[in-house]
Amino acid sequence: MTSLFRPLARGVISRHLNCMHVNTLILGAGAAGLHCAAFSGPNTLVVDHAKAPAEKIRISGGGRCNFTNLGTTPTNFISQNPHFAKSALARYTQWDFIDLVDRHGIAWHEKTLGQLFCDTSAKDIIAMLLAEIAPTADLWLQTEVGTIRHDGTHFHVALKRLGQVTLVQADNLVVATGGKSIPKMGATGLAYEIAEQFGLAVTDTRPALVPFTFSDDRFKPIAGTATPARLITADGATFDESLLFTHRGLSGPAVLQASSYWQMGEDVRVALAPDFDITAALKTQRAQDGRKALTTALAVHLPARLVDFLGGELDLTGNVGDLADARIADLAASLQNWSLKPSGTEGYRTAEVTVGGVNTNELSSKTMQSKATPHLYFIGEAVDVTGWLGGYNFQWAWSSGYAAGMAIATGAP
Ligand SMILES: Cc1cc2nc3c(=O)[nH]c(=O)nc-3n(C[C@H](O)[C@H](O)[C@H](O)COP(=O)(O)OP(=O)(O)OC[C@H]3O[C@@H](n4cnc5c(N)ncnc54)[C@H](O)[C@@H]3O)c2cc1C
Repeated sequence: MTSLFRPLARGVISRHLNCMHVNTLILGAGAAGLHCAAFSGPNTLVVDHAKAPAEKIRISGGGRCNFTNLGTTPTNFISQNPHFAKSALARYTQWDFIDLVDRHGIAWHEKTLGQLFCDTSAKDIIAMLLAEIAPTADLWLQTEVGTIRHDGTHFHVALKRLGQVTLVQADNLVVATGGKSIPKMGATGLAYEIAEQFGLAVTDTRPALVPFTFSDDRFKPIAGTATPARLITADGATFDESLLFTHRGLSGPAVLQASSYWQMGEDVRVALAPDFDITAALKTQRAQDGRKALTTALAVHLPARLVDFLGGELDLTGNVGDLADARIADLAASLQNWSLKPSGTEGYRTAEVTVGGVNTNELSSKTMQSKATPHLYFIGEAVDVTGWLGGYNFQWAWSSGYAAGMAIATGAP
């Protein structure tokens, strides 16, 4: 945590110091923090160090925000405790958020695989959240969070805005400052630091939904080529979506999904043209048109640029008619059980999310409240719950934000 306000916490009170009391102080005006503020009741203050609220919503989904997924279930989330997310997801579902979006007249569409996007702009979601919080909450932007103290009853948080320090006394403190992904957009590890300050364990964190990199530029010749693929990680997580070759390695939805399950040093297996039985297809072509070049036969199922590239690695010379059964089996294995070892990922610089976070053993799954420190809540990406690509991460932000907000408003233990 920044040492900026440490002197204040030690009691060297500035003559410019303001003091105020709020019922609920929410750190972070992102998806989870704003949604929580919509339910946490009167006298809520939301603060953020950014110039604008919910910057990640603004840029999400190519500017149209993939705000939820029709098929959301707890199985779409990664956590050391796979049961933790169940309660919050059940009590505020994708249908509840769709209902909210509909009430605000925001037009949306399903793109693919249950992923819902705004028809017009992600800014509609931000405007909706700001309208929802307006009656009960204040929003302070460009506000730095300083020291945090708990006296057994209240939290005392030093905030600095426009050069002015305010010491806020809060009955409830909600930490919604997200994970470490995209520091350029204001991501910090503040949530983990606060967790540690209050003695809550934090699981190992790593960038996720992130492209793979390789130590060489082997895919440079086919950078920009995309193809359907099945990605299988060492622990068996399997994703059938598009794969994109890049200058630095591999990207595309299938790769981003796999990256969330990948650990440094592991291989990933790639099945190209996963919906085709390559062995059967080549045998059929051998019987029907044996004089066809093998590269031409493969280009029926794979992009021609990719086939050219693979020709160098797999010796794709000759005609299909020349292929013995064993050679066909070898080729099918090479194409559909292609083992690759990424040297790393593009890291937090481009990762959409952070896997890991505040250990769920420390929190009530019903309220997101710290078991050790009553009235301290952690929500959203800061918690060790990470969604797949496809609107699941925002759904977790909405659901966990609602859980904490409702617990505060109703005084639930
Ligand atoms: C490029 C990109 C695209 C994405 N697209 C999608 C998508 O389409 N669908 C989907 O479901 N998910 C998407 N995600 C993931 C999604 O944005 C996050 O999971 C979600 O925003 C997490 O919500 P949150 O409120 O927990 O954290 P955030 O939205 O990150 O909010 C945290 C807030 O805390 C503030 N903050 C951080 N540190 C401090 C500090 N020290 N002091 C004060 N304030 C601080 C930040 O400025 C920020 O406003 C995308 C992510 C990225 C990066």
